[in-house]
Amino acid sequence: MVDYYPVIVIGGGPAGLFCGAEAAGSGQGVLLLEKMPSCGRKLLVTGSGQCNLTHDGDIRDFFKKYGDHGAFLRSPLRKFSNHDLVAWFTSRDLPLAPDESGKIFPKSRKAADVLSVLLAECRKNGVVIQYGEAVKEVRRSDTKFHVRTGTAEYESGALVIATGGSSYPATGSTGDGFSLAASLGHHIAPVGPALVPIRVRDYPFGELSGISFEGLSLSLFREGRKVRGGGGDLLFTHTGLSGPGILHLSRFVLPGDTLKISFLPGMRQELLTKDLVDRIAVSGTKQVKSILSGYSLPARFIARILELLDLPADLTGAHLPKKEREELVGMLTAFPFVVSGTGDWNEAMVTRGGVSLDEIDPTTMESLIVPCLYCIGEVLDIDGDTGGYNLQAAFSTAMAAARDLATR
Ligand SMILES: Cc1cc2nc3c(=O)[nH]c(=O)nc-3n(C[C@H](O)[C@H](O)[C@H](O)COP(=O)(O)OP(=O)(O)OC[C@H]3O[C@@H](n4cnc5c(N)ncnc54)[C@H](O)[C@@H]3O)c2cc1C
Repeated sequence: MVDYYPVIVIGGGPAGLFCGAEAAGSGQGVLLLEKMPSCGRKLLVTGSGQCNLTHDGDIRDFFKKYGDHGAFLRSPLRKFSNHDLVAWFTSRDLPLAPDESGKIFPKSRKAADVLSVLLAECRKNGVVIQYGEAVKEVRRSDTKFHVRTGTAEYESGALVIATGGSSYPATGSTGDGFSLAASLGHHIAPVGPALVPIRVRDYPFGELSGISFEGLSLSLFREGRKVRGGGGDLLFTHTGLSGPGILHLSRFVLPGDTLKISFLPGMRQELLTKDLVDRIAVSGTKQVKSILSGYSLPARFIARILELLDLPADLTGAHLPKKEREELVGMLTAFPFVVSGTGDWNEAMVTRGGVSLDEIDPTTMESLIVPCLYCIGEVLDIDGDTGGYNLQAAFSTAMAAARDLATR
């Protein structure tokens, strides 16, 4: 005899647990299959163990936090917003609060508390959770799904794929959902690491690891054409570029792209040239490095830039040749970094790509190809900026599916 459940959820991350709990709360019999010995392993490492659940403010501000895919999330985000999420956890004795930047965390600052609430809700509503059961195969017959794990077979009326993406594979998210969805006929938008540091060719700032800049202007060029622009904070690491501005841009970069960074945002090339000429005219006897320190750039960064230009550290402004001055201005206003790639899955916080959104109903998360199949959370072709946007997307898409399951 094969065990039958009205709903099977594959994956016990935030999306799967939340969807399972809500669907079971509406009276559906739910089996949740989790491949690891425990649920929510990635959730436990979110926000450095503090779990940045969502973001403060108007839910409409969220729509532009998912690259080019925010439009798909409008309905689920509106129907289960950041405020609804805060109310949901608060009513279950886990108060949440924003920090000064608007990121919302549990007041306890413990991701484990968030997981406890989700597991308690599953328990209360009667979700059956099977641990250590990796789903290997799913099939659809006329009215049922057939689900095979390494050790058992199950059948269900509805199936929810909540297996997450491929980042941090040690937590259990190894991209299984992409092949499961593909086996049922879904297209998978090419996947890759996102919210991840960017590696560059001949990286010249390894020695400056730890130095950060705020509010820089970042422009991405492909085959000589500007394909993305943006701004944000940057951090030099030993091996490349990181920091929020870089992480957010990482979903768009391809090897061979050129990332031009202005370390003096708001100062165009001509303006900086004129300003520098003026400053040298007034203080030509001063060393170039001290003239440049007037732009509030870190001293070690200035020293490295002069080194890259083969200029002596004690060169005075009056002795800076025009050609080198122009190169200096170019470096400060549009330093060209040639992208060699990104960090790997062990560094990426999320996955770009996934189950194609064209084939999912944005109001219910039900497949437009296979009736009663739902895809939620990071397995979808959605990746958000840092700041709580990924977990909010996981919870909102999970709620959309749970509400639809409740009507069956
Ligand atoms: C270091 C780090 C920090 C982060 N911090 C934040 C943050 O502060 N705020 C934020 O919004 N986002 C954050 N994220 C992103 C966020 O954690 C994810 O977007 C979110 O966990 C996705 O939820 P999910 O339920 O879709 O998938 P996951 O959390 O990946 O869960 C998927 C589950 O499915 C299971 N599974 C996989 N394959 C199978 C299978 N074949 N059979 C059975 N089970 C399976 C996995 O074991 C896992 O338990 C962070 C990510 C990382 C890596």
